[in-house]
Amino acid sequence: MFDLFVQFVRDTFNDSDGFIPLHEPRFTGNEKKYVNDAIDSTFVSSVGQYVDRFEEQIRTYTGSSYAIATVNGTAALHMALILAGVQRDDLVITQPLSFVATSNAIAYTGATPCFVDVDLATLSLSPEKLAAFLDAQTEIRDGHCYHLASGKRISACVPMHTFGHPARIDAIVRICAAHQITVVEDAAESLGSTYQGQQTGTFGLLGTYSFNGNKTITCGGGGMIVTNDEQLGRLGKHLTTQAKVPHPWEFNHDQTGYNYRLPNLNAAMACAQMEQLDGFIANKQQLAGLYEAFFQTTPYQFVQQPANSQSNFWLNAILLNNRQERDAFLAYTNRNGIMTRPAWTLLPSLPMLSHCPHDDLTHAQYIEDRLVNIPSSVRLT
Ligand SMILES: *Cc1c(COP(=O)(O)O)cnc(C)c1O
Repeated sequence: MFDLFVQFVRDTFNDSDGFIPLHEPRFTGNEKKYVNDAIDSTFVSSVGQYVDRFEEQIRTYTGSSYAIATVNGTAALHMALILAGVQRDDLVITQPLSFVATSNAIAYTGATPCFVDVDLATLSLSPEKLAAFLDAQTEIRDGHCYHLASGKRISACVPMHTFGHPARIDAIVRICAAHQITVVEDAAESLGSTYQGQQTGTFGLLGTYSFNGNKTITCGGGGMIVTNDEQLGRLGKHLTTQAKVPHPWEFNHDQTGYNYRLPNLNAAMACAQMEQLDGFIANKQQLAGLYEAFFQTTPYQFVQQPANSQSNFWLNAILLNNRQERDAFLAYTNRNGIMTRPAWTLLPSLPMLSHCPHDDLTHAQYIEDRLVNIPSSVRLT
């Protein structure tokens, strides 16, 4: 059975004997032209027309009022949490199944992550588990939500749209609003994915994207914050650019800022990638359709696009029947030149997060035991 999968991937990527990576970037557009142009302009750093243009592209694409370009997705999430008002010693709810950058960004603020289980269909934060956790373990006092066991304030919730599949974000936003909790979406993996026709990243007060080399589009390293809140949009730009008070020559800074602005050189590449985003997503959706048909003839389950959603299918995933079978599949495919990867080790299992509060995490454990990501690059025609 595993051999049929290897052959299917080789046929699908039109590569009979080479190594097939999990996700490689495609530079098939104006990348070199724009990067050369940025170099010729001498504006390679935090000021330049490409970084402004990239922000405008994301603003338009997502339908957000404000977009703030950052050096990477982790910095974008860190800044979004600051803008959301997260403070030292708060708790911030997120999901156990995510890349470590999600919990790292929470830790940078001095807050502690609090893990609530994921949904089996979306692989992302479960609205039912979230509501159950909040109803059983928190109370609202003076307009804030407090975790009863620790006495800490829960200031924000960070759902993540896992592998590009949209969370049931409308329900999550509704539940959080009822508990006075601000939603910051980690949409690092889901640029272009929509829930009920609306772009992921635009449901919460703030949302963030990543343009790291393994994401749907890349500029080497880069990130973006989006929001419709004018005050936060302006403050975000100010804080990511060293909190400099505008003046023709004087250097004045009115608070502790951050050197988080995306360099124009990276933004040049990002502008070229944005021009290809819809084509990349269509290509990836077609690949997902081929995988889905293939896995119908196998005892393994292809992770499908959730209901009411359009997924960008950043990373395709399958569920094997148990951990032993998962490990055998990983070993066989990697030995045969097909790169596959298990899900991330659940965040509360990592040493620096072992003290964090969490609920039962049964769905996340089920997924961790069975899930494998399979090659998902845009196919060249
Ligand atoms: C990639 C990623 C990030 C961070 O992005 P960088 O640009 O690499 O800093 C954050 N969260 C999730 C879920 C990611 O996959």
